[in-house]
Amino acid sequence: MKDRLIITITDVHGSKQYNLHQFVRRIVLYFSLFLVALILLGGVSIRLLLSEVKQIQERRDSLIQEYADTLERNEQLRQEIEQKSEELITISDRVEDLEGIIGVQKDEESSGDLSLIERVDLASITGVQKGFVMRLIPNGYPINSNQVSADYGWRIHPILKRREFHTGIDLRAPVGTPVYAAADGVVDFSRSEYNGGYGNLVKIDHSFGFKTFYAHLSKLIVKKGDFVKKGQLIAYSGNTGMSSGPHLHYEIRFLGNHLDPRPFIDWTMKDYTNIFEKETSVKWQSLLTTINNLMEIQAPRSSPAEPR
Ligand SMILES: [Zn+2]
Repeated sequence: MKDRLIITITDVHGSKQYNLHQFVRRIVLYFSLFLVALILLGGVSIRLLLSEVKQIQERRDSLIQEYADTLERNEQLRQEIEQKSEELITISDRVEDLEGIIGVQKDEESSGDLSLIERVDLASITGVQKGFVMRLIPNGYPINSNQVSADYGWRIHPILKRREFHTGIDLRAPVGTPVYAAADGVVDFSRSEYNGGYGNLVKIDHSFGFKTFYAHLSKLIVKKGDFVKKGQLIAYSGNTGMSSGPHLHYEIRFLGNHLDPRPFIDWTMKDYTNIFEKETSVKWQSLLTTINNLMEIQAPRSSPAEPR
């Protein structure tokens, strides 16, 4: 009790003494208590905050994981879509091929709002008729070569060197290349002679007034009177007769007159109707009607696939 500091305050009521030491001690005590409380509170708060941070981190990690999963799934789905798209394209192509084979006219306004199923159904209506026509009337290449060395029409003859009408089409091919019948028919002529420049020659009679000539052949396979199917091997190409190089001279005749074989060799299931416009010396509508009647096809009157 030696360092006691006493403050005396005097006013009109008298004097009052304050023991400053005691006062300070109390302040220190309160302050200490306050400090301890503050530290405790701070500690608790920090712990709470830390746990909250931890939770947020966990949530963030799970979100990142979810995001990665979503990305992966997205990639999977994208690949699936790509695969399905390819499949769909393949199917569409097949339907288109099928339509080409059995005959649906590519009519923009009518096929636009038809489903694949409807189009296939529609295709089957005229398919049989088309198949018939493409078997009976000469079409396609009679030899595996699309190298046309001389077209049908007026030209300077390569050997005679004078202006002459070329009555067929020349398809360049090595000697010994297989030659096929352009349509069903019966062999009218098959002889290994000069034949007025044609060389070894095969002629086939087809239905409805058509006839095909295959000239400059090296080897004949069929004989006169043989019935042949479209695509059947009839001979091998060569360089016989009046020929300036190995090729097949291919001729198409209708009622005795030669026609340009080009629209006929270009005639396919897909471009079925083109020839009807390109070759006008044949009454196509009448021919198709006859074939339809032969087949007893009851084609719907308003069928958009009915050939013109
Ligand atoms: Zn020729």
